[in-house]
Amino acid sequence: MNKCIQDLLLFLDDSPTSFQANTSIRQRLDAAGFSALDDSKCLQIQPGGKYYISRFDTAVIAFVAGSKPLHETGFNLAASHIDSPLLKLKGRSLKTDKGICRVGVEVYGGPIISGWLDRELSIAGRVIVKTAAGVYTPHLVNLKRPVAIIPNAAIHLNREINKGFEYNKQNHLQAILAINSVAANPLLSAIAEELQVSPEQIWDLDLFLYDPKPAALVGFGEELIASGRLDNLAMTHAILSALLEAEAPESTAVAMFYDHEEIGSRTPQGALSSLLPEVLQRISLSLGCSSDEHFRALRQSYLISCDMAHAFHPNYPEKYDPDYVAVMNQGPVIKLNADFRYSSTADSSQRFIRICDKAGVPFQRFLVRSDMPCGSTVGPLVSSALGISALDIGNPMWAMHSIRETAGTKDHKALIKALKHYYI
Ligand code: ZN
Repeated sequence: MNKCIQDLLLFLDDSPTSFQANTSIRQRLDAAGFSALDDSKCLQIQPGGKYYISRFDTAVIAFVAGSKPLHETGFNLAASHIDSPLLKLKGRSLKTDKGICRVGVEVYGGPIISGWLDRELSIAGRVIVKTAAGVYTPHLVNLKRPVAIIPNAAIHLNREINKGFEYNKQNHLQAILAINSVAANPLLSAIAEELQVSPEQIWDLDLFLYDPKPAALVGFGEELIASGRLDNLAMTHAILSALLEAEAPESTAVAMFYDHEEIGSRTPQGALSSLLPEVLQRISLSLGCSSDEHFRALRQSYLISCDMAHAFHPNYPEKYDPDYVAVMNQGPVIKLNADFRYSSTADSSQRFIRICDKAGVPFQRFLVRSDMPCGSTVGPLVSSALGISALDIGNPMWAMHSIRETAGTKDHKALIKALKHYYI
């Protein structure tokens, strides 16, 4: 298997929630010689240096400081998001009835809910532990093994299910965790055992259900990747892979891995936060730029916002504009929308098209049908906040927001190649 595809599968498996995605990103940055910066302290940045800043255990901004003055070359920015639709546990809802221990969930983002039923599920996220000294400390948790299941009602009890059934999120999505358990709270007991603490020390939970089935290649030619969270860990992996190889670029190369895109980005580690404007300004100041030079640097800057795109699905041809379909494994997709749900324009697309030409990578264009609503992503949020030229791209995929999504191996390799040319 190709090395970068192998690494993508590993990245997907190791990153069930934004907390673990943050760890997967930082591990790769550390291994490539990037230094972690503490943004509560004075930043010391050198031209050619490689750095990253992590915020609230999820979002990461990584960058390689350029060799030329910032106001001459600007920032070469690329953005993605690390969160995916999930089911979040409502810890206090845990109850046992007729020996059946179950816990309710909140729906995070917009998943295709039916896929979560009748499937072995695991639990991952972050918990707060109270130490003997009375200190509250966050700990990441990933149980990795199947510990939960949300069974459907039998077809004999719900004969209309194949005609379209709306699951009630409060009642029908409660996850079964144990039968006749000896533990008073099997969830806390399992987490406590994992962390080698007592259940009473676990103070609060940010835990999610996820599908622990490993990512896999599919198709007779193994040209497809099936996994959870391809939207948008695949784009995160592509940007990260390209940045890790950026050696002494002239322009400062920046990668933003935001959290909370699936719920609107309005959080301290989301794309609408102060995170990027703050970090860019502090890079400029640390490199000795004046305020005027910083704003001149922004005028030279460019953003490639990467979020997965809808591939043409042969079983649903009526869902696409026939003149703007994106086909699986035929290259990254430039996403366009007149209402600027995507930031791309004919003008801003030109730089990306030149990058693709230089890298020998094909590209496609996608427009949603005029009689259908269009999705959106972080591109318009970041480009409008900074006033910089931007475009939205993504690789084609099927079943976006399903618990098991499908994308193409060729597209992934192609985008990494293009982004490497961008960051050079
Ligand atoms: Zn997305």
